[in-house]
Amino acid sequence: MPPPINSILRQPPPPLPLMSSLTTRHVAVIGAGAAGLIAARELRREGHHVVVFELGEQVGGTWVYTPESESDPLGVDPKRRVVHSSLYDSLRTNLPRECMGVRDYPFERREGKDRDPRRFPGHREVLMYLQDFAADFGIGEVVRLQTEVVIAGLGEEGKWRVRSRPSNHNRMRSDDCDCVDEIYDAVVVCNGHYVQPRIADNIPGITAWRGKQMHSHNYRTPEPFQDQVIVLIGGAASAVDISRDIATVAKEVHIVDRSLNENAIGKLPGHDNMWLHSMIDSVHQDGRVIFKDGDTVGAEIIVHCTGYKYDFPFLETNGEVSVDENRVGPLYKHVFPPALAPWLSFVGLPWKVVPFPMFELQTKWIAGALSNRLALPSKEEMTQDTEAFYSSLEASGTPKRYTHNMANYQWDYDNWIADQCGIPGIEEWRVEMYKFASKNKRLRPESYRDEWDDDELVLEAQRDFSKYLN
Ligand code: FAD
Repeated sequence: MPPPINSILRQPPPPLPLMSSLTTRHVAVIGAGAAGLIAARELRREGHHVVVFELGEQVGGTWVYTPESESDPLGVDPKRRVVHSSLYDSLRTNLPRECMGVRDYPFERREGKDRDPRRFPGHREVLMYLQDFAADFGIGEVVRLQTEVVIAGLGEEGKWRVRSRPSNHNRMRSDDCDCVDEIYDAVVVCNGHYVQPRIADNIPGITAWRGKQMHSHNYRTPEPFQDQVIVLIGGAASAVDISRDIATVAKEVHIVDRSLNENAIGKLPGHDNMWLHSMIDSVHQDGRVIFKDGDTVGAEIIVHCTGYKYDFPFLETNGEVSVDENRVGPLYKHVFPPALAPWLSFVGLPWKVVPFPMFELQTKWIAGALSNRLALPSKEEMTQDTEAFYSSLEASGTPKRYTHNMANYQWDYDNWIADQCGIPGIEEWRVEMYKFASKNKRLRPESYRDEWDDDELVLEAQRDFSKYLN
């Protein structure tokens, strides 16, 4: 049995060579989700002065569950009341906790009546882990809660002007301003990218369809779907979870997943009221949804589990960074715009990754580059590298919107950054565990969170963690 973990040894800052030659910067971090908290820790370890701006009432970002949803369930009305979190009530992690945690701050079981000891815990446990992290590293003292950054813009002499204002957690978009302007040396953007929905709007007839439509961002609980016929578009993790959740009360759930292979089309094995389809052919005013496989259903609700768009409404860079077909760029290694490095950086843009360890590596790199401890290539070299990367995507027929999809090379990417920082790369057991969890999820989509065969890897992780425990 692994030792019970009640206290985590504060990991001392990594030894900083030649402290006297390091430069301390004033850094604004935008967002106090996992990325912002980890960024704050790494920046402070490096000796920088940090302010973390957080528009919500507490730290934790997307892990702060709220039963509230947005005023426009599809999320297309720019004037809607925006809710940051996309969590649904039943959500459990889709990664095992050993694999998911920050490398030197393991996401271990903790004692306590509200704690969730499961290997794939519910979302509240992740929030508590992040709260523990913030408390153990004293990050609360640099976080300004309920403070929204409305402008982070290039100012004079290469400095950044950060304009902020008090916010409510569920903010209405408005232009009235009770604003404060401050000057910083650098801005680290950690605002998350699961807020602005992408919807499937190219289906013939969809704009005239009279039924209800919503995006998974606004899904919370299954009750409103009682006895209804639902069409759910999407094949990623939240589509799998939400379809099962809804099917507990709905009459029928029809899942549309364009990556399905022909043989999978039809009734979902093990379920009486779920069907798989590959594509929608058209939808009609009378509620009919016609699938390309020839089936037709009369549906009441279409749920779009179709992902999100990057959005940085506060950022003013004189055109040095933009979002084009969901590519944020140009960015050197998904972090630094060559023209503004290291003074502007982005944490957490890649997807299909294990996020927390990647945040840790990206932010160590940013912190070291800001203090002059780590050297970045010249602007020209970074530009060249970035252009070569974009050309390689184009040559392989990868659409721009997949620029930050790291499904096939997240570990190489992490290890490359670790190398830049002169620290060890991702642990072998983590890579193996992730591989195992992905395969297990494919084989047992209903039960992978409670059945697994990689106890050996869990033990190996525990042995590794013991160096961080007292
Ligand atoms: P967020 O958590 O979104 O935090 C961004 C913060 O920035 C928020 O607090 C927001 O209020 C703040 N902010 C935004 N704009 C401003 C502004 N202008 N001014 C001030 N503050 C601002 N990851 C896993 O590792 N395991 C999982 O099982 C897992 N499941 C997931 C399930 C769902 C449904 C979703 C949506 C994501 C899941 N993830 C999972 C990924 C998850 O997004 C990351 O774990 C991580 O929480 C992202 O952290 P972040 O800090 O980048 O963004």
